[in-house]
Amino acid sequence: MALIVQKYGGTSVGDVDRIRNVAKRVLKTQAAGHQVVVVVSAMSGETNRLVDLANKISKDPDGREYDQLVSTGEQVTIALLALAIRDLGGQARSFLGHQVRITTDSAFSKARIKSIDASVIHDDLAKNHVVVVAGFQGIDPEGNITTLGRGGSDTTAVALAAALKADCEIYTDVDGVYTADPRVVPNAKKLDKISYEEMLELASLGAKVLQIRSVEMAMKYKVPLWVKTSFEEVEGTVVTTEDKDMEKIVVSGVSADKNEAKIAVRRLADRPGIASQLFESLAGANINVDMIIQNVSEDGFTDLTFTIPKTDLKNALRLAESVGKEIGAGKVESADNIAKVSIVGVGMRSHSGVAAKMFTTLAQEKINIQMISTSEIKISVVVDDKQADAAVKALHKAFIG
Ligand code: ASP
Ligand code: MG
Repeated sequence: MALIVQKYGGTSVGDVDRIRNVAKRVLKTQAAGHQVVVVVSAMSGETNRLVDLANKISKDPDGREYDQLVSTGEQVTIALLALAIRDLGGQARSFLGHQVRITTDSAFSKARIKSIDASVIHDDLAKNHVVVVAGFQGIDPEGNITTLGRGGSDTTAVALAAALKADCEIYTDVDGVYTADPRVVPNAKKLDKISYEEMLELASLGAKVLQIRSVEMAMKYKVPLWVKTSFEEVEGTVVTTEDKDMEKIVVSGVSADKNEAKIAVRRLADRPGIASQLFESLAGANINVDMIIQNVSEDGFTDLTFTIPKTDLKNALRLAESVGKEIGAGKVESADNIAKVSIVGVGMRSHSGVAAKMFTTLAQEKINIQMISTSEIKISVVVDDKQADAAVKALHKAFIG
C-alpha cells in the first residue's frame, strides 16, 4: 500500500461538479489500496479576486493582513472537497496549514516551509481517512498565517510528500510538461519525463506548470513528481532524476518569460564593493535578481544590467537609484517591455555550437538580442516582448521540430 499525495489546482476545483469529480478520483485511488493525502488550491480566479480586493483597499497592503486574506480561498475548497468525499460515502477530514503544523519563516507572501509535523496526518490516515490539506499556506513561529507565493500549493504538496515519504501527483489543467507552450507552438510535444534540473530551469523561465520552489524541494528530497490532468485518463510527465536517455536530447524545452523587467546602472566605478552594495540592498528588500550582466570596464567605469520580477520593478528602481547616488554612479534606466526566451536541455553539456545556432536562428527572424546569459544546461536571451512568441516558434522549429 503506497502513500500518495495528490494536488489539485484551481481549475480542477473550479466549481461544485469539478470538486465532485476530484472526490471520485481520490476515492478511486484509495479503493486501489492507497492512502491518500490531497492538497487543493483555491477555486480558479479566487486568489486573484482576493488580491484585487487587498489592492483596492490599500496601495501597499500590510504583509500579515495580505496573507491572512489571500489564504482564505483554500479554506473553502478543502472543506468542500471533504464534504464531497463524505457525500460519496468516503471518510475525509480537512486541515488548514497550521492544523498540520506547516511552519514557515515570516516572509509574508513568499514564505518558505521550515517543517511539517506529519503525526497528525498519520493518525488520520491510520483511521482510513482521506486527509485534505489547504495548499499555499503555513504559520510562522509567532503564529501568523503566511502564504508561499503564487502557485504555492504545488510546494505544499511536495513538502508533504517529502515529509511523508510519498509520491506526488500534481493535477493541473495541462496534461503534462510540453517542449513549449502549445498555445504558441501548436506542434509542441508532451515529454514523458524530464530531469529536475531542466524542469527547474523551465519553471523559472516561466513555464507556469509548476511553482519553482516545488521543483527545488522535489529535487532536494528526490520526490518523483507527476504532472497530470484531472480531466482525462492520460499518462502525464514525470519529473525525476536525470538519466542517460535525457542526455541525448540537446534541447528539451523552449520557453518565454514575460514577467521580468530590466534595470541598467550606468558608469559604475570599477572597484571592489560596488556590486555588493547594490545587490545587498536588493536582497535586503527580498527582491529576487535573475540575470546579471556586467561588462569589462573602460576608463575605470562599467555598466551593470540585471533583471528582476516586474512586480518588484518600482521598489528595485528606487533602491538602485538611491545606491547609485551614494556610490556616484551615472544614469539608472529601466524597461519592462522585455521577455526572456530560453532553450533548456541537459544534452547541452556535451554538445557544442548550441549558442551559435540559437543566435543565428534569431538573426534570421530579425530579432535583436538585448542580453545573453548561460548556464550549463540553458541559454537565455532578453528580447523585446513583442517578439517573444516569434522567437519561441523559430527556436522550437530549429531545435525540436
Ligand atoms: N491559490 C494560490 C494561487 O492562486 C495557490 C495555488 O493555486 O497554488 O496562487
Ligand atoms: Mg498552479
